[in-house]
Amino acid sequence: MKTHILWDIDGTLIHNSPDGANVYLEAFTQLTGAPPLHRITNPHGMTEGQLLSELLQLNGQPSTMLDDLLTELDVHTLAQHDGGFIREAVAGGPEALREVAHRGWDNALLTGNGPLHSRYKLLAAGYSADDFTWQNSFFGDRSPSRPHLTSLVTPQLGDGTHIIVGDTPNDGIAADAASLPFIAVATGAYSVADLRNTSALLVVDNLVGGLEEVLDTITQLTERG
Ligand SMILES: [Mg+2]
Repeated sequence: MKTHILWDIDGTLIHNSPDGANVYLEAFTQLTGAPPLHRITNPHGMTEGQLLSELLQLNGQPSTMLDDLLTELDVHTLAQHDGGFIREAVAGGPEALREVAHRGWDNALLTGNGPLHSRYKLLAAGYSADDFTWQNSFFGDRSPSRPHLTSLVTPQLGDGTHIIVGDTPNDGIAADAASLPFIAVATGAYSVADLRNTSALLVVDNLVGGLEEVLDTITQLTERG
């Protein structure tokens, strides 16, 4: 049976980027003709589907605009990429992917971002699209919540060991909802102490000092089946 490591992107594989998030505001402004008066105060761990629906609602726009807003988001994401926007991978992220692949486990994504946004975020941080199995990945651009996204994992991937790696309590809540094991890394907006208040089997500071423990935990989960 296969072991799939379902990596979150923001705060887990790459550092959060306030400038990078401008594409949401640009897409909203382009579509509605004005910038949003009200903004989402804590977007960490939200899916894009959720974030953009709430942004529309907060600003008195119909939720039926979501599809057009996502189309606009892709346009601005491509423009951001073409403009040479650079993101920063977390320390140890590339090595973690290598070690996972080396052990025969599958690197895939479970992220609030859509597929195109995911791809360009990762490329901008120096990862390769080939680092991930895209058909085993889960994208939240049309997902109303992270638990909705995790509910799709076992039906789609079948039997095996499917492990969520993320940086927010929301990742843990979503893992719990689908009875999936959760490993937490404190390279996003939440501290080790915050993440210890979740169901995480393991909380590490980062993927450098914490990598051995992460790999050991995955080994144990895989052997347990
Ligand atoms: Mg995250």
